[in-house]
Amino acid sequence: MSIALARGCSDAPVLRERGQREVFCGLTGIVWLHRKIQDAFFLVVGSRTCAHLLQSAAGVMIFAEPRFATALMEERDLAGLADAHDELDAVVAKLLKRRPDIRMLFLVGSCPSEVIKLDLGRAAQRLDGVHKAAGVRVLSYSGSGIETTFTQGEDACLAALVPQMPRQDAPQLLVVGALAEVVEDQFLRIFAAMGLGRVAFLPPRRASEMPGVGAQTKMLLAQPFLADTARALESRGAQHIPALFPLGVEGTTAWLTAGAAAMGVPAERIRDAVEMPETRARLALERGRAELGGKRIFFMPDSQLEIPLARFLHNELGMELLEVGTPFLHRGHMTPELEALPAGTFLSEGQHVDRQLDRVRAARPDLTVCGLGLANPLEAEGMTTKWAIELVFTPIQGYDQAADLAELFARPLRRKALLEV
Ligand code: SF4
Repeated sequence: MSIALARGCSDAPVLRERGQREVFCGLTGIVWLHRKIQDAFFLVVGSRTCAHLLQSAAGVMIFAEPRFATALMEERDLAGLADAHDELDAVVAKLLKRRPDIRMLFLVGSCPSEVIKLDLGRAAQRLDGVHKAAGVRVLSYSGSGIETTFTQGEDACLAALVPQMPRQDAPQLLVVGALAEVVEDQFLRIFAAMGLGRVAFLPPRRASEMPGVGAQTKMLLAQPFLADTARALESRGAQHIPALFPLGVEGTTAWLTAGAAAMGVPAERIRDAVEMPETRARLALERGRAELGGKRIFFMPDSQLEIPLARFLHNELGMELLEVGTPFLHRGHMTPELEALPAGTFLSEGQHVDRQLDRVRAARPDLTVCGLGLANPLEAEGMTTKWAIELVFTPIQGYDQAADLAELFARPLRRKALLEV
């Protein structure tokens, strides 16, 4: 007989709820993806609602030449009275003529394009054939709210990139998931200090810098919401490296260590490279620990970052976890995180928003992490909230960002305390 000891929450029961959800759709991902791939353009094929969503999500940023737009579907398109494919071809031709800097064009599906069953995959293939000679690749993915929550837009976009990746037979570490450039540069410096030179990133900064993939590729996920992308990379031979996500000091060390060890870097060399930034980051977390220790937090499901964030907030800052909700629980990618959570954590997957709000009201957390739509009503009831979307827009991964991440949670509590004074 063998007795297996359950670690953390890897075997813990999960409350599964299916009901009304309160989350953004996958179009939101465009707001950070268009900054990442600098010569890409995202053309949403959608309605005025989609255009408004993008404008308000990106509203805080001012660009001379934005790298996204909405091709508006009018009533006659929706009624099937016009040939939407012809109209789309004309819009794309006009756009590419006006913007010769575009090297990769994404046609992004929405609820309206899905409802009328406009086949954007076929449109992208046709337009790719037309514009390839001029050096423009045309791809498609869906950001529709019927199918996707907001971080799944990135997953769908990156999965669409995988077939474009050339075959690569040499060993390499592939970091998967959009990271701020400052974070990417820090990771590159640490990997270089370990003597690891062959590190590539998906998405790349430019369409022409598409990394390769093959049987010698080890894939290290930088974001927890990339199930489809990981599957597509695995089908091209890449091997997933199980690891914590690089949030907080513990997560960053575990993530860097897992990646480097999979590439054969000796443990001592890894330790030497992480020691200094790790110590610095631990010291920087002290203020956050003093402010957040013992505070009770409730995560509504939103970005799929909830479980790694909860692990960081509990293990490194001493917060008490009341409920950790996630839209989807991908056990294959999340096992190390579940093992690192304190035993007995209340986990929920999916959402029945009314029931979950009842649990929030009963628990009266010090801080509730939720989508924008829920934040105002909860604040009106005297509760303190943190917008989940801010955690996706802000560079939060890595050692140098660990204290900033703690600060994102401390700030609303500090504001509340000031108001109460
Ligand atoms: Fe709304 Fe759907 Fe457009 Fe998203 S894709 S903005 S959910 S209509």
